[in-house]
Amino acid sequence: MREAAYRAYRVFWQSLDLLYPPECGGCGQPGARWCARCDTAAERLTPPWCPSCGMPTPDGEICLRCREHPPVLQAFRSWAFFDGPVRNALHRIKYRRDIALADALALQMLKMYRTYLNWNVDVVLPVPLSSQRLRERGYNQAALFALPLALGLDVPYRPKTLQRVRHTRSQVDLSWGERRKNVAGAFAASSDGVSGKTILLVDDVITTGATLNACASALLAAGARAVYAFSVARTPLRSAAP
Ligand SMILES: [Zn+2]
Ligand SMILES: [Zn+2]
Repeated sequence: MREAAYRAYRVFWQSLDLLYPPECGGCGQPGARWCARCDTAAERLTPPWCPSCGMPTPDGEICLRCREHPPVLQAFRSWAFFDGPVRNALHRIKYRRDIALADALALQMLKMYRTYLNWNVDVVLPVPLSSQRLRERGYNQAALFALPLALGLDVPYRPKTLQRVRHTRSQVDLSWGERRKNVAGAFAASSDGVSGKTILLVDDVITTGATLNACASALLAAGARAVYAFSVARTPLRSAAP
């Protein structure tokens, strides 16, 4: 049933592309929403990686950062580094609400999920925006990935389960420690729909994981069994902020 819903979702965007030929969200060339060249150029995160955060490590050992600050999340992964065409595409999705481009990237995430992750999750949720940010932007860009992922994985999508209860300042110029303090206690989850469940949180970009850990703490406090997270992109360690 949901498999059919996902097919319908994809067919809808594909037929729209026939009517209005798209340009690539990575490079701007006409033809495809996400072209083969940008797909090749996207720097994927693949094993060997830290079992906790998914950052590449030489022999698949746990990374120093996760050893020093064990994440609340069971594990988190990202499809590619936040760079080049991936950065362009995410910018376009965040500020121009390109839902079809988000769907094209979600398809790539789904391929990675099936190849490497296959976590047994019960519910899919996007990382929520504050109501103030939602009013300013009009939509939550993380939801543009979470919905097609939920459909593709055939798992219920429950965007209202987790709320951001406190508006937090932008994390862009904050250090790792400051980010943790900035988002601590910023989220709350309702226990119905979460209790005893394994949750998959979806976001566009993961930088330090501070936001995800704050979300995971709220979900675990509401009775979730375990929390995983999956994002389109990961900020490379060499640059501190998206
Ligand atoms: Zn392209
Ligand atoms: Zn790690």
